[in-house]
Amino acid sequence: MVSLTGTSLCPFPCTHMACLFCKIVSRDVAATIVAEDAHCLAFRDLHPAAPTHVLVIPKEHVASLNQMTDPALGGRLLAFARDVAVAEGIAESGYRVVLNTNADGGQTVFHLHAHLLGGRAAGWPPG
Ligand code: AMP
Ligand code: ZN
Repeated sequence: MVSLTGTSLCPFPCTHMACLFCKIVSRDVAATIVAEDAHCLAFRDLHPAAPTHVLVIPKEHVASLNQMTDPALGGRLLAFARDVAVAEGIAESGYRVVLNTNADGGQTVFHLHAHLLGGRAAGWPPG
């Protein structure tokens, strides 16, 4: 696991106790965590869609991009995803960062997360 800066303790009260990703933040649900800092957590997707498929989430519960009120949170999430891409060795070859939002976006877990996908050439347009 790459410790990018901080503590492994969740600094935010998880008000959404039924949220799967909040439970990963609190370590009540196991995941393969690859990096974390004070605000963000990165762990491998259970059903990888690419050789490298990491989910990058804020430790604070935000249901989706639609509920993200603090733009700084988005910036932190993106910069963290970039740092994980470097740590995973896919920064130079390239990668894709995807935020699925609501039904048409294909969102199934309602805790904001960025998919970091790399290790193969991605197609365009996406499905
Ligand atoms: P989305 O469809 O954009 O909401 O993405 C949710 C992602 O979470 C999917 O790619 C799932 O494979 C992944 N996922 C679901 N449960 C887990 C879990 N327990 N650990 C890691 N990834 C998970
Ligand atoms: Zn949550």
